[in-house]
Amino acid sequence: MSDPCRPVYTGRFAPSPTGELHLGSLATALASYLQARYHHGRWLIRIDDIDPQRERPGSAASIVATLEQFGLFPDAPVIYQSQRAALYHSAITQLLDQDLAYPCACSRADLDRNGRYPGHCRAGMPPGAQQRSLRVRCEQAQISFMDALAGAQHIHLQQHTGDFVIRRADACFAYQLCCAVDDAAPTITEVVRGMDLLDSTAQQIHIRRLLQLHSPRYAHIPVIVDEHGKKLSKRDQADPLLHGDHITAMRQALTHLQHPPPAAITSIDGLLTWALSHWQPARLSSAWA
Ligand SMILES: [Zn+2]
Repeated sequence: MSDPCRPVYTGRFAPSPTGELHLGSLATALASYLQARYHHGRWLIRIDDIDPQRERPGSAASIVATLEQFGLFPDAPVIYQSQRAALYHSAITQLLDQDLAYPCACSRADLDRNGRYPGHCRAGMPPGAQQRSLRVRCEQAQISFMDALAGAQHIHLQQHTGDFVIRRADACFAYQLCCAVDDAAPTITEVVRGMDLLDSTAQQIHIRRLLQLHSPRYAHIPVIVDEHGKKLSKRDQADPLLHGDHITAMRQALTHLQHPPPAAITSIDGLLTWALSHWQPARLSSAWA
């Protein structure tokens, strides 16, 4: 029997609908799915569609349909960030009410040469200045967490980003805020995602601490790169998914995840069944060695 005090393992895959599913995102989806099944847990899909400017029409539906073609079905209806504005609103209200966030009149040009915010508006905007964004305070915030794959991480946010934006100048909620809130409700117990998001993690943990929300565990997997060491993009010609070659894509994704499947298995169902019965999270660590 499961312990009623311990939340059931819940993982998620949270793509932005900015294009088709590609090999890199398939690997991330598979890793989070296999990890959830390994722990006899739940797996959710969340579409991070809070940035209409970057969105491509139809891409959310296409991503979900492609995941299903790989046998990756979520255990609950797909979650859309675009339908959760009320939650982000109340998080921001809570931060503002406690003076943990403040309005800022600055633009990108006011950041220092390392892209950090120097805190101009921390004690109030200059007289007559027009508010552009909202920032969260992170004075003295030291964030330490243990990544299951990347190891111990220690980030001093003031040196890293400075007070960062939670509501943008175009009135969009910032990615860090939405992701922080959404990984707490419904409770995600482990986030498995690409290493390119490792840097965001401290900001998201910081927001959840201020909101007194629980943080998940993290496992950041190495991203798939092309022969020049560049992260595989959504339009990479070498991507087998671009040509509808799902078997090759699944094999390559599993091989990237340190689980190369036997050559004799030649169906998607067969590959997924094999991966489910052979998944060993510890093998992923060798990708970091
Ligand atoms: Zn400012």
